[in-house]
Amino acid sequence: MLIALLPYPLMTYLNCVQGRRYEKVYIVLGVWTAINFVIVVFLQITNIRDFFETMTSSHLIIIALIFTMAITIIRDVMKGYVKAYREVAIGFVAIMVAGVFEIALTYIVSARLNGISLCIGLVVLLIAAALKTIRDTFNIEKEKQIAIAASASKAQFLANMSHEIRTPINTVIGMNEMILRENENEEIDEYAHNIKSASQMLLSLINDVLDFSKIEAGKLQIVEKEYYLADMLNDIVLSTQMRMQQKPLQFKVCVDENMPTQLRGDDLRIRQIMNNLLSNAVKYTEQGSVSFTAKGEQDENGYVLVLSVEDTGIGIKQEDMKNLFSSFERLELNKNRYIEGTGLGLNITERLVSIMDGKIDVESEYGKGSCFTVHIPQQIVSDEPMGPLEDGRRKTLKEDETKKTVYIPDKKILVVDDTKMNLAVVKALLKRTGAQLDTASGGMECFELTKQTQYDLILMDHMMPEPDGVQTLHLIKEDEDNLNKETPIVILTANAIAGMREQYLQEGFVDYLSKPIEVDRLEEVLEKFLK
Ligand code: ADP
Repeated sequence: MLIALLPYPLMTYLNCVQGRRYEKVYIVLGVWTAINFVIVVFLQITNIRDFFETMTSSHLIIIALIFTMAITIIRDVMKGYVKAYREVAIGFVAIMVAGVFEIALTYIVSARLNGISLCIGLVVLLIAAALKTIRDTFNIEKEKQIAIAASASKAQFLANMSHEIRTPINTVIGMNEMILRENENEEIDEYAHNIKSASQMLLSLINDVLDFSKIEAGKLQIVEKEYYLADMLNDIVLSTQMRMQQKPLQFKVCVDENMPTQLRGDDLRIRQIMNNLLSNAVKYTEQGSVSFTAKGEQDENGYVLVLSVEDTGIGIKQEDMKNLFSSFERLELNKNRYIEGTGLGLNITERLVSIMDGKIDVESEYGKGSCFTVHIPQQIVSDEPMGPLEDGRRKTLKEDETKKTVYIPDKKILVVDDTKMNLAVVKALLKRTGAQLDTASGGMECFELTKQTQYDLILMDHMMPEPDGVQTLHLIKEDEDNLNKETPIVILTANAIAGMREQYLQEGFVDYLSKPIEVDRLEEVLEKFLK
């Protein structure tokens, strides 16, 4: 019975390792084996002929199989296909020799080995198959490593590209800021405003790509710190109000006054999430309102911040819901062609929420509007009630109104950056302050200058060829007689990742300014360290 069935597993396995190139031949042999099996079993059961007497028909199939295997393996050797299963091919040769030997003994010498040589052949094939499996496993692991490396280098490329692109945008925004300040011609003013909004859009796009590639490369980290809830909510509300200026929309804000004053978590990422949701609400709503609601709830694991954004905009079709959070996926392109976007915002938002162990829910009715709600766990630092948000908001607005330009003609500032364009931007931005400016285009030049002149403030770029900003700071601080050992040094960085501030402060910087430099932040820093 075994001999009648033996061809089956052998041809199935060989067919498989040969990549089904000769499947048709094996099917014919398989059908022949099946018919033979049914007949010999029938003859045995009905006591007409026993297995020994019908063995010849099974042997015939085995001989046919041996021929087929030999021919297919020889063909594969000639065509080079055998490389993929070379161990197994040797195992099959062993079993073919064993088969021929067994049959030859039976018919020529009339002796019987009762399958011993076939068993030996099968053991050889088994070992060969095990060896092939081990080799395949190694190969798969190697290919996996190559694929991981390729994907990492793709993510790294994206990260580098977006980083590099920020430098020229930085220049455009900075120089344009100068045009906006110094120009009195209305027409040029309008052009400059257009440049401003376009370059800001470009920047937010680059930031999205940078975040996306960081998440893809698993490099995006959540940095938790203590923060005041009212500050964060105020900023979110204010930036949405600015965004809504061009649209006839009503902005409804509903913030629970009993929320805790101070929390611990990554407030910058929460701002990013809410800004994404609110800017979408404004983008995809032409009339009606956008509502922002903030409250908190206590669950079994602690405090959870519940923030929701509701709009009366175009809404999302039920069948589009599944694509809502996919990367680079924009819905209803025909309708939304003229609304700017990349389709990355919601994907980043969802990933940020999930990195923070939170969740995001969407409810939407097509044509009526949508509501996005995020739940983000945070730790309470001070559970004193936060009070009405309006107070904080009014304060911030008032501070803005009273802000004057810093005028410091008697102060000396050194600006260090290896990119000429960046130096030009900082110089232009500082022009109005009247301060005396020196520039250095590298760490070493800066170090030499600090030995000769005492400055009131140093603005130092981070990413420079050696020594970089951090190394240059250490050179100055560790140089015994340096005139600027005590001078406040502010770092300029394009790496505005949350939590970097603490790292820079630890190194010895007094503050940091993220690129592109915002005029207000720059003046804030000047005020803080030079007045
Ligand atoms: P985009 O940059 O295109 O806005 P997002 O990832 O933020 O990318 O959003 C993906 C798509 O989801 C958008 O193109 C839009 O079709 C749809 N969408 C997002 N928010 C809303 C909303 N509030 N109302 C209607 N559609 C929305």
